[in-house]
Amino acid sequence: MEEMLLHKKVGIPRAISYYNNYPFYYGFFTALGIEVVLSDKTTTKIINEGSSYVVSDTCLPIKVFTGHVVNLLNKGCDVIFVPSLQSTGFKINNCSKIRGLPEIIRNVINKPFTMIEPTLDKTENIGFHDFCMQIAEAFGITDSKIVKAAAKAGWKIYDDFLEMTQSGVPYKEALENALNGKVLKKSVDIVKPLSVVIMAHGYNLFDERISMNIIKKLEKMDVKVYTSLDVPPQKALSSIKQIGEIQYWANELELTGTAAYYLLNNKVDGIVALSAFGCGPDSLMVDEMSYHCKEKGMPLIHLTIDEHTGEAGFVTRLEAFVDMLMRKKRRQFVKKSENIKSADVVKLREAKILTGSVK
Ligand code: SF4
Repeated sequence: MEEMLLHKKVGIPRAISYYNNYPFYYGFFTALGIEVVLSDKTTTKIINEGSSYVVSDTCLPIKVFTGHVVNLLNKGCDVIFVPSLQSTGFKINNCSKIRGLPEIIRNVINKPFTMIEPTLDKTENIGFHDFCMQIAEAFGITDSKIVKAAAKAGWKIYDDFLEMTQSGVPYKEALENALNGKVLKKSVDIVKPLSVVIMAHGYNLFDERISMNIIKKLEKMDVKVYTSLDVPPQKALSSIKQIGEIQYWANELELTGTAAYYLLNNKVDGIVALSAFGCGPDSLMVDEMSYHCKEKGMPLIHLTIDEHTGEAGFVTRLEAFVDMLMRKKRRQFVKKSENIKSADVVKLREAKILTGSVK
């Protein structure tokens, strides 16, 4: 960590942990009296800029993160938050790129700026309070009570956000309201002919440029979409255990846990796996889920994305999947009504026998 910072302003790249943790980060920094500056929303320019700094086989989310750091520097923000989230529980790890994010950024961006680079590593007993203290100390705040109070303010916004998303409020709306201190409840759940769950990291799914707005695209096709935000973490964890797997990756609840929850409850017609091209953890998790889906006859499509993914091909695959789900559902419906009809014929015949009208 650099020397104590006197100007209390921090830049947060709109990438990686931003998508799950920003309600907490915002509440925490603001309560400490530190102004938050966000990078712009992801654009093709940001992606291309980020890609130009790292080796080509780096996954898309890390390229995007790098692009957002450059975007903040271009805005004149020279104190940037780049956490190292090593493990979020005992031996519950993040991938090497997320663990080593400060090192990646330090090595690829050759410009003068200060990184706020706290470490969270529960396997090594570096817990959440230590993580918060490391951030605060970089700004000269060393009073543990002040830091605890700021963390409490962060959790309040985070919990409000979670309460809204779990009651069905869409991500963007929940985030906006939580940051403004409001809690909305979604009143009516619209019934659609088909439903799917998307298994994906928050940073892939809720970044509209990376995900190519997949949620809106599916909704336009009249499909109800569920995501990890609809599943309480404890339920995601117990679903992983129920399908006979263990949690190894920190974001496994968003992928395996979420998909397993809907698979076990038979609540959706299909599963969409959205992952970055070349992502090791995702390929393992998607493979695992493909196996379980095959056993239960649940359709699963795996869409991979990188900076070259074309929207037309992406939409075609999505449409073909939805079309297949619709045909499957129609077939099931026809079969069900035929079974009902033949059950009615049997009942009618029985009634005739009982009344003596059949010899
Ligand atoms: S989990 Fe996969 S997509 Fe995410 S940062 Fe690691 S390698 Fe990239």
